[in-house]
Amino acid sequence: MSFLRLRNISKRFDGDTLALNGLTLELPKGQLLGLIGESGSGKSTLLRVAAGLETQDTGEVFLGDMAILNPSQKLVAGYDQIQLVHQQFNLYPHSTVEENIRRPLLLYDKSYAQDRTEYLLEAFSLGSMRKRLPRELSGGQQQKVAIAKALSVEPEVLLFDEPFSHLDPLQKRQLLEEVRDALNELQITGIWVTHDLNDALMLTSQVGVLHTGTLVQYGAAEELLKQPQSRYVAELFSPLNPLPGSQDLFLRPMAIHFSQASEGIKGRVKSCRFLPFFNQLTVSLEDVALDWTVFDNGRGFREGDQVYLKFSGEDVMSLPK
Ligand code: ADP
Ligand code: MG
Repeated sequence: MSFLRLRNISKRFDGDTLALNGLTLELPKGQLLGLIGESGSGKSTLLRVAAGLETQDTGEVFLGDMAILNPSQKLVAGYDQIQLVHQQFNLYPHSTVEENIRRPLLLYDKSYAQDRTEYLLEAFSLGSMRKRLPRELSGGQQQKVAIAKALSVEPEVLLFDEPFSHLDPLQKRQLLEEVRDALNELQITGIWVTHDLNDALMLTSQVGVLHTGTLVQYGAAEELLKQPQSRYVAELFSPLNPLPGSQDLFLRPMAIHFSQASEGIKGRVKSCRFLPFFNQLTVSLEDVALDWTVFDNGRGFREGDQVYLKFSGEDVMSLPK
């Protein structure tokens, strides 16, 4: 059963920019959705509407049976049940890690507050840093504290607005794994917004794609990869190679294989780039004056080499513009 429901949400700023365009999204309890969208696609607006922090023009938000009221309907905007974690850390600079996590629990029973704090310090591997001030932590560690702090009041839903976007890639990869494990253990229902598909895939296999205020596709990552409903979604996962003589038919580099001379399509390696898991080749198909991007997993070919390529018809994707 879906738990967080956004129904037909539209939002226009200044009577001009259409930030959200009739967006409908349903999130089952316990699911973490990775929501991918380029800058300006409406990601932050979507999260703010979902949290009751922004007034939408049309549509409704529900958490279970409860209607989420927007700031024009509710005196104090927002809900404890729905926590938003921002790019900015939002930590108290003069309080320790432990105090920051416990702070939202000031009005709660003391022993409950302490137990919950201990539990979160443990879940996010922050125990050894409990006495440090935010400025004594790296950016990534501060962001972990911010997430633990948002979880202290046991929210029903956690919304993440690109919390790791400013971290360097190495630091980010490890943190994403740690946070994924913690969120899985806590069975968090949430939306993790990012402009980076790889970040989303590190966290969850359920992804949605937001494009100019519309949720263009939503489902298992594998489904989006194999059955993209638009060229836009398809291109998020890999370059696309057009089939000779066609406007709408494409092949992914992963679907193109090397073959024996004479049985494949003839091409010449125009350039070869060394990437971590394979070499990326640009191959010109000599007979049709077309360049294809091809992955060479065996790193066997060099610039200038002649190659023969083959593919299977079932890997051809039809993607009308
Ligand atoms: P994202 O988070 O995906 O970058 P946003 O939701 O922040 O996108 O913004 C979507 C669109 O709405 C953008 O064109 C942005 O300029 C516009 N927008 C967002 N917030 C405001 C605002 N408070 N006033 C005017 N325009 C806004
Ligand atoms: Mg944003």
